Amino acid sequence: MRLLLVEDDEMLGESLQKGITGAGYVVDWVKSANEGSFAIQSILYDLLILDLGLPDYSGLELIKEIRNQNNKVPIIIITAKDTIQDRVIGLDVGADDYLIKPFSLDELFARFRAIFRRLGGRANLLIEYYGLTLNPKTFEAMLDDEIYKLSNKEFAILVALLETPGAPLSKSQLEEKLYGWDDLAQSNTVEVFIHGLRKKLGSKWIKNIRGLGYFIPKVPVDALK
Ligand code: CA
Repeated sequence: MRLLLVEDDEMLGESLQKGITGAGYVVDWVKSANEGSFAIQSILYDLLILDLGLPDYSGLELIKEIRNQNNKVPIIIITAKDTIQDRVIGLDVGADDYLIKPFSLDELFARFRAIFRRLGGRANLLIEYYGLTLNPKTFEAMLDDEIYKLSNKEFAILVALLETPGAPLSKSQLEEKLYGWDDLAQSNTVEVFIHGLRKKLGSKWIKNIRGLGYFIPKVPVDALK
């Protein structure tokens, strides 16, 4: 899962980037609304974490701009302004949630999970697909009563493929979800993660069409045994 953080406070930005990366997410960090606007138009993010008070123009304006472009990326506002009015405006112009600074990383991650759960139309935390269960909190996969600990990149690949079963994602589409700006250099490793997943879960879960990419089969997997 690839996130964009728009925050002009150096110390908070640094600690958020470190904490979010440490939790297994990929995050790009920019420090102004203009840079945020550019990033949002260049890359398909799974989530935007947005400060409201930015040096060039306000986070509220950026939200309006994003929604006017019909971009539905989930947005969490992080703001020191704790008046009810600011939060109401933020939600009304298109944010999905907000946190008042200072907040704990644990709470931020819980909001992430809640948003991803709602997006997936799921009532539960767990992601389930024909006997395969993924736990976004622990990055574990459960299959046939076995629990497999996945690396955060392996987990991100599975989640991405499960968004559209049957539809192949190319290597570069997967790379975009797996790597931030800072680590594009190591981007020749999608195959390694796919190999790791197949080794853990069995090769029937991830199929490959040469030239098109990787996908999780749309039909019940038992039929493919
Ligand atoms: Ca600020």
